[in-house]
Amino acid sequence: LIDASQAKGLVPRAVTRVITPGTLVDESLLEGDAPSAVAAVVPSEPHQTSRSATTAHAEPQTALAIADASTGDFAVLSIAQSAVIDELARRGVREVLFAESADSKAAPNPITGTARSLNIATTPRPAWQFRPQESKEALTQQFNVSTLAGFGLSGTDPATTSLIAAAGALLRYLQETQTLSAQDKVGIPDGLLTRGSLSHLRPPRREESKGTLVVDAVSLRSLEVERTLRGDANSTEGTLLSVFTQAGAGKGACRTPMGRRLLREWLVAPSREITEIELRHAAVATLVEDRRLADQLGGLLANIQDVARIGGRIALSRATPRDIAALAASLSQCKELTESLTNTPALAAIRADLVAVATKLSPIAADILRLCVEAPPAHLREGGLFRDGVDPSLDEARLLQRDAGAWLSDYQTRLIAQHSLPNLKVGYNKVAGYFIELPEAQARNAPPELKRMQTLRNAERYTTPELREFEHKVTTAESRALEREKELFLDLCSRCAALTPDIHAFASAVARLDTLLAFADKARHRAWTRPHMTAEPVLRIRQGRHPVLDEALPGTCVPNDCELGSDGVTERRSDRNRTFEAASSSQSLGPSITPSLALITGPNMAGKSTYIRQVALITLLAHAGSFVPADAADIGITDRVFTRIGADDALHAGQSTFMVEMIETANILHHATPHSLVVLDEVGRGTSTLDGLSLAWGIVEHLTGKSAEAGSHPSTQALRRSSTGPRTLFATHYHELTDLEDRMPGKVANLHVAVREWPAGGKGKTRDGADHDGHSEIVFLHRILPGRTDQSYGLHVARLAGIPAGVITRAREVLASLAVHHVGDTAPTPAAANGKARRKADTSRIPAPVAGDQLALFKEYVPHPAVEALREVKLDSMTPMQAFDALRRLHEMTEDT
Ligand code: ADP
Ligand code: MG
Repeated sequence: LIDASQAKGLVPRAVTRVITPGTLVDESLLEGDAPSAVAAVVPSEPHQTSRSATTAHAEPQTALAIADASTGDFAVLSIAQSAVIDELARRGVREVLFAESADSKAAPNPITGTARSLNIATTPRPAWQFRPQESKEALTQQFNVSTLAGFGLSGTDPATTSLIAAAGALLRYLQETQTLSAQDKVGIPDGLLTRGSLSHLRPPRREESKGTLVVDAVSLRSLEVERTLRGDANSTEGTLLSVFTQAGAGKGACRTPMGRRLLREWLVAPSREITEIELRHAAVATLVEDRRLADQLGGLLANIQDVARIGGRIALSRATPRDIAALAASLSQCKELTESLTNTPALAAIRADLVAVATKLSPIAADILRLCVEAPPAHLREGGLFRDGVDPSLDEARLLQRDAGAWLSDYQTRLIAQHSLPNLKVGYNKVAGYFIELPEAQARNAPPELKRMQTLRNAERYTTPELREFEHKVTTAESRALEREKELFLDLCSRCAALTPDIHAFASAVARLDTLLAFADKARHRAWTRPHMTAEPVLRIRQGRHPVLDEALPGTCVPNDCELGSDGVTERRSDRNRTFEAASSSQSLGPSITPSLALITGPNMAGKSTYIRQVALITLLAHAGSFVPADAADIGITDRVFTRIGADDALHAGQSTFMVEMIETANILHHATPHSLVVLDEVGRGTSTLDGLSLAWGIVEHLTGKSAEAGSHPSTQALRRSSTGPRTLFATHYHELTDLEDRMPGKVANLHVAVREWPAGGKGKTRDGADHDGHSEIVFLHRILPGRTDQSYGLHVARLAGIPAGVITRAREVLASLAVHHVGDTAPTPAAANGKARRKADTSRIPAPVAGDQLALFKEYVPHPAVEALREVKLDSMTPMQAFDALRRLHEMTEDT
């Protein structure tokens, strides 16, 4: 290809580059803090899953290959088909490749449909590119190996074959979109060509998903980790991520884009390995304690730019002069970083990584800094990247250009003197080049050696052979200088490209250090504490705060405790100085037997949702390696976090809301293990009260490991066999559910949110505002206490919301009349339940899920008296006449009401 500015006639064209949503590498097109990846999916063949007996129950596995073209990261993994979308969302995949089916009638790939709804582009690719043999060839060629065994991709089992197919198809796509076409390569030194333009792409890394705490996409959304439920889809405002990203420097924000991407990754895919988590906590602890070290590292990290992506652009021959300068400035921090990290055992691993690359990276960084100016131009086409005095031939060419000014003014003086033309000027412009100009009045006196070039309105322009020759020399000098700069630049690029693996190792060490430092800054700034991780499925949080609320309104967030599950070693731990019992209030739920399920009741707006999310977020933060917003926390290693919010039209626009709610809940009931954390918010809200209440009841029983019906799913059976269910927080406005605490002692704990009620008339505190003068006020204390709530305060909340007083008054009347058939909310205790207000007859009719265990779910509902009478009729001993009388009596009873 030739430069368009030099072309005569039509400029030759060629496709030099294909831009797709998943393969962007340009700085201007990428969000610095977010990953940008492309994935290839290979769904499993139906017959593959039924081959072995052990996998008979397993879900079909899908092979996924995921690459980030901007950094060269390349991973393959096989996961359950139902988890594919979660995985794509978590890894920031922008584009999914799938094999185009030759058969147009074939069922559409289920993944592509969902991907589209998540705004992930779907790109069909020729099916042959997914053939294992072709894929294997492409991979061995790209990575210059004879076998894929080194990448964990040997073997001919279906799972591995699918992974190879996916990886190969993805590689081909990257080659097609990212590498230069043959014409494009003209003019690029061979050194760069032989490395191949995808040289930054690392060999595929086979991942096992068992190392991470799985948070599915729905839970990520309901916990507002990356996006809020209602907020702008492109803003992180109000999310867990924003607690870090929107904090100022030294208050929890990362200093580098690599750090910001890793922090996001750690939050959406926290670790499940206790050793890895404790390594991170120990590093954070060191950085919290050693403030001087933290400040020093912060200063060094602040000078480091996005070297991961710059490395990618260099390998793809798309680096700019500024990239090279930024790379050098960043790499030159390596040495000082390693020096700062001496004598810091908790960060020794990071230091070792940095030391390993320092000897290779420091020289190139020093060279670039020596050769290049501090503020280079955006593009090489303007020149000016290299300093004077670093290259003789560049200097020579530049000297000519620079001297042009002096030569011209000298030439002008000469001409003026020679021809006595005082107004003669020698000038230059881009269009005409160099020229001699005379005002119109003096043009008559022009000597013959001046050759006319151009006539302007009041002037004439001329040239001379001498001026022409000079012009030629200068312009060739200019292009010679540019040419030379290009050579020098490509030379630097190819030296850097050869160091791609080291640049990446540096980038990942920096990312890790940066993220740990951000965690430490946050911990110090907001007084977060180090959680104690344990293998037992427990959760004990003392004075925990909601991280987002605490950030938005520091000091106003009401702290709350949480205690779920038991490890049986509570006593043993009491000699530790930061133990729970020391900090524990008298409201502790018992020494070592603590239910694994808590039911949280309380009026609307009391703080139920905030509380249960806070517990989940603290668990997530602890697994990510961060300290947590609490006075103390014992966190049992968690395999999955599930969060579901009861159906809400605003959140599930266009879908059957209740259906969605139940699909999501079914997923939890099938997949929760004794090591999971389940957070349910008002599940069962999407249908009628009785349906919802009954479902909620059944769900609670299931989650405590007690269920009447035998399921077929293996994990469900695992749950049933175990004595405990997953740690569960269930916020509900069905306060009838609180009876479960008595029915399942040791398995269910009731919690409620405290509300203080003030009658406006100054009559003092009362419990039941609804029956009073209607002027009582409630104050939300946001404090979680053991025990149950006895009423829903719906009318109070309605009044707070501004419902007109007339409507509230009328609602009170309606409520009072409804209460005729509904024993008041104020008698929920078992003692009262046995009193005369409850009629024994109706509870007996509700089937108990387990023999001998009577379910009194609807005991508050008083049946019509006619039903009672009917039940007492003794049909066997009645004459036809008596029967008719009884029938008439019953009929009359129905007319009474
Ligand atoms: P619920 O789920 O019970 O209806 P929410 O959890 O949505 O209530 O809380 C309602 C509001 O109360 C929240 O928007 C929040 O501002 C405030 N709030 C909740 N918990 C606390 C707390 N612990 N400290 C301070 N404010 C809180
Ligand atoms: Mg709520």
